[in-house]
Amino acid sequence: MKPDQLALHTFTNKPWSIHECLENYARRGIGGVSIWRETVTGHDLAKVRKHLDDTGLKPVSLVRGGFFTATDPAARENAVNANREAILEAETLGLPMVVLVCGATIGQSPEQNLAQIGEGITALLPLAESTGVRLAIEPLHPMYAGDRSAVASMRDANELADSLGHPLVGVAVDVFHVWWESGLEKQIQRCAAAKRLFAFHVCEFKPEFDHVLLDRGLPGEGVNASARIAKMIKAAGFSGLTEVEIFSRKYWSENQHDFLDKIVASCAAL
Ligand code: ZN
Repeated sequence: MKPDQLALHTFTNKPWSIHECLENYARRGIGGVSIWRETVTGHDLAKVRKHLDDTGLKPVSLVRGGFFTATDPAARENAVNANREAILEAETLGLPMVVLVCGATIGQSPEQNLAQIGEGITALLPLAESTGVRLAIEPLHPMYAGDRSAVASMRDANELADSLGHPLVGVAVDVFHVWWESGLEKQIQRCAAAKRLFAFHVCEFKPEFDHVLLDRGLPGEGVNASARIAKMIKAAGFSGLTEVEIFSRKYWSENQHDFLDKIVASCAAL
């Protein structure tokens, strides 16, 4: 994959500001960008939008919304309102999609969590329709099923998206989270056949990780599943940019230009 077929998540280069990310991605010939809300906190979003437009980078997604579950109904309503803000931020930034990390609350069953997630997304649909912003459910690795996402496999994501049955609701496939799943190719094909394959994220799971969130690998490291899954995604007809989303204290401690070079080199093999 060439650099212009890639979109970088700004959190991948956490040490850089939003403006450094935009400048450096464009200069390196990267095709697009997904913007983390953390990267633009406190910024004038209209100015960020102007800079993004000026670089010619393709806007891919706002990361992230979600966290719909809670035992307290008022907390669930607050979560829906926070997601409405995320959709409006995406619209302001010219980003066509919000990625959803759907949430899980300790003490609730997976079924309770999934039901609350379905209700939360349903409550967002009128605003998604009026803004045209798409919602991408991202299944997380089951090691996060306790408190981050009850959507813990592509099968879960497909079932949830099927139950919602809305053209603006789809799925973001992330290699780190779904590499382990048997029958993955079938689930990806099912997702694509329903026109719900909205996004593809690469980074690798390292079985010997030293932090549950912040020790992710470049494509080719760890279980080396990115190339295998990239083939499935391509065969399913996905034509969007491949998003690079790597959280790594190790790589954040390096020169970020060198890290970007490593990303481009490792993605060339996909
Ligand atoms: Zn992801």
